[in-house]
Amino acid sequence: MNYQQALETAKKNGERVVPTVCGMCGPGGPGGGCGIYAFVRDGKFVKVAGMDESPVNQGAICAKGHAAPQWVYSPDRLTHPLRRIGRKGEGRFERITWDVAIAQIAETLKAQKASYGPESLAILSPARRSYSEYIVRFLTAHGSPNFGHSGICAMQRAFAFMYTIGTWPQPDYQRSDLIILWGRQPIFSGPVARPAKSFLAARQRGAKIIAIKPSVEPDVGMADLWLPIRPGTDTALALAMLHVVIAEDLLDHAFIDRWCSGFDPLKTHIRQYPPAWAETITGLPASQIESVARMYATTRRAAIDLGNGVEHTPSSNDAIRAVAILMAITGHLDRPGTDLFVPPAAKSPKPITLKERVTQEMVDKLVGPEFPRAFQPLSKARLRPIIASWKAC
Ligand code: SF4
Repeated sequence: MNYQQALETAKKNGERVVPTVCGMCGPGGPGGGCGIYAFVRDGKFVKVAGMDESPVNQGAICAKGHAAPQWVYSPDRLTHPLRRIGRKGEGRFERITWDVAIAQIAETLKAQKASYGPESLAILSPARRSYSEYIVRFLTAHGSPNFGHSGICAMQRAFAFMYTIGTWPQPDYQRSDLIILWGRQPIFSGPVARPAKSFLAARQRGAKIIAIKPSVEPDVGMADLWLPIRPGTDTALALAMLHVVIAEDLLDHAFIDRWCSGFDPLKTHIRQYPPAWAETITGLPASQIESVARMYATTRRAAIDLGNGVEHTPSSNDAIRAVAILMAITGHLDRPGTDLFVPPAAKSPKPITLKERVTQEMVDKLVGPEFPRAFQPLSKARLRPIIASWKAC
């Protein structure tokens, strides 16, 4: 709804309307955080509605956003500090005041800082959520540069794509004629702006959808083809698809000649992974693997949207690297309708990370400066001297 409609709705119900941003994903979260109208009655937050004016979600919000009042008032929500009084895992805690909690944490942090240096404090947390910048601010004030992603999702994709093609490409839902959802759940998972809305819009305008995942989910119901792959066998599927496109010469030779290195060794290496080999591993018929590989390679505007499902498996790094190679040798990279090189999501307009306090000494103590930019707090310019010193070695 728009602001006028929100005001009218609020008036009718004796409520007050507060235009704001959903705190679940952003600001600074994936997609930037959805614009919402929060309705307040007698001082209590009662419901939300999507904000039409927001460029991020254009009026739509996801199930998590709709449930915001439930989590704000959930009886299970932790609203005060607790201190463990039993053994670890015993589940026994006592309630303490904020002053006591802060004093105890501060004392421990000071002792750690004195013994091991400020950089010995590292915080791992999902990247780019509404609270991320506050964590970075706290770490910077403490003197540590070591904020990193907790690595339960997205890291594998970011690393594997970075190592293989130098960036993490994003599927161009708006212009694609074929979208392969690979371990991706676009309806319930991820910010509402993308992929749910983009997926539904692509479906409506007639884009073909292929869903690769073990379980039946809403997107499978809307897909043209479902590949119920055995969990954790994505690498075998990707290798067999590479085998098909190379054996049948469904390649973008101009792209390979200009941008790819190592293609000749790949041609030899991939011979050992035909679709019949992958069938026994993935549980997918070889003929289906062949036809999906052909469809992807021969559809000029084809994109692959890899999801968390591919990452949460032991061989995810190899799977993602193989998919990246598939995108490259078929020329499905950074062209309209394929997977695009795009800048990272917008950051909060008013940075609160105290970046002016970051010194070169702190930068030098960063653990894992090779982390993809989206997952650590320092800018490219800050990291340049470290990378240069590596190159000099
Ligand atoms: S995608 Fe859902 S949870 Fe995330 S900001 Fe939008 S409404 Fe909130």
